[in-house]
Amino acid sequence: MKLIESRMSETTWQIALRLTLLTSSAVLVGLIVGHIAAALAIVFAGYLFFQLRNLLILDRWVRFRSVLSPPDIGGPWGDVIAVIARIYRRKQFHKQRVVALLREFRRLTDGMPDGALLLGEHNELLWFNYKAERWLHLRRKRDFGIRIENLVRYPAFVQYLEHGDYTQSVTVALSGEQEQWLSFHMVRAEGSSQRLLIIRDMTREMRMEAMRKDFVANASHELRSPLTVISGYLDALADDAALDKMWREPLEEMRRQSERMRTLVEELLQLSRLESVRGPHEEQRVDVPGLLALLRKEVLAHEHHPEIRLHIDSHACLMGSEAELQSVFTNLISNAVKYTPETGTVDIRWWHDEQGAHLSVIDTGIGISQEHLPRLTERFYRVDQGRSRKLGGFGLGLSIVKHALQRHGATLTISSEEGKGSNFTCHFQITRVVHESPRTLEADNLFVMK
Ligand code: ADP
Repeated sequence: MKLIESRMSETTWQIALRLTLLTSSAVLVGLIVGHIAAALAIVFAGYLFFQLRNLLILDRWVRFRSVLSPPDIGGPWGDVIAVIARIYRRKQFHKQRVVALLREFRRLTDGMPDGALLLGEHNELLWFNYKAERWLHLRRKRDFGIRIENLVRYPAFVQYLEHGDYTQSVTVALSGEQEQWLSFHMVRAEGSSQRLLIIRDMTREMRMEAMRKDFVANASHELRSPLTVISGYLDALADDAALDKMWREPLEEMRRQSERMRTLVEELLQLSRLESVRGPHEEQRVDVPGLLALLRKEVLAHEHHPEIRLHIDSHACLMGSEAELQSVFTNLISNAVKYTPETGTVDIRWWHDEQGAHLSVIDTGIGISQEHLPRLTERFYRVDQGRSRKLGGFGLGLSIVKHALQRHGATLTISSEEGKGSNFTCHFQITRVVHESPRTLEADNLFVMK
């Protein structure tokens, strides 16, 4: 600041000195020739002309400074030109640095294995790298400023963009000659309206996953027939009265094991059916209250079980596959019964609200410690391998539940405390819910069966 002030006062002094010199010389000349006013007028007109000329030189240089070198006119004008030239040089230097940085950034982002797009507040396209351009067939000049949902119209992607949980990604199969799967993940920066969309090529992973699923499905399918034959022969042998007593015990064990294998094969086949994206998905009206009452009855038919209470707070039905929904409810209820002592209770609750319909299976059983909860729905995941095996479980039940729910657009929440019990709740979207007549709802809003 001090430097600026000293420069300014220097320039002011220079101008004042020049004006004083000019005025005194004009007065002197005027005194000699006897016309002071005329001498002053001529000198100031000349001075004005000189200033105008300098102003024109400055104007020309400022307009064409990128091609002209700074004019050499000294004095206060020279100072002004020097200052402008310095600011211009500094600006040029920063501009070149930013351009170089941008070029470097583009080279790096184009070399990235992932696609990246920068979206504005209204999802308009602000920037994208080479991979995004190639995979989504974007054009630099044409597509900037266009909303991404008008360029990438896959329903799953549009749904993710509008209502998605951005902590997750969405995987989409592209339509085209070649099979390609892309996963999209939105990244939001704190305090910014712009968003970064990261795209990853999942084709290889999806192919491997499909191969793995096909292998499991084929192997299970191939095992089914020999197992049926073995079970048949074992049953026939067990019915044979002439069979040596010594063979009774081993035969029973063989029957138990073949039954276990049959259950495993059936569960694997069921899981592969649920996992197959293109699999048939019936849409029928499923009477959930009726189904739950039936399942409860089935459990009660067994000799040992905890107390089972059914709370039907809604007569809402669901649109979906009855077989798949039955499998969901059966798995949840049989798990609750399996892992709850006879002295405990299992509460099955069905209700609806403005979000949708919900089913809870709450038990007072052994519970599950927190570290296991995120992995419970993985295939073959068991908290206690020994106990689960003894109870006949393969760790496939909750995996089946998860996939069947996914096919119905529903979610599963699990909360549990070791030693206290667990709560498994399924949440169905409102679009899946169909209501009985309102009369029934009001008349019979809650009933509890014990
Ligand atoms: P499994 O056939 O072994 O029961 P699931 O996939 O149904 O397999 O369940 C996975 C694991 O989750 C089980 O091995 C068990 O440890 C645990 N689990 C499931 N439901 C309950 C429950 N209601 N109470 C306690 N543990 C449970």
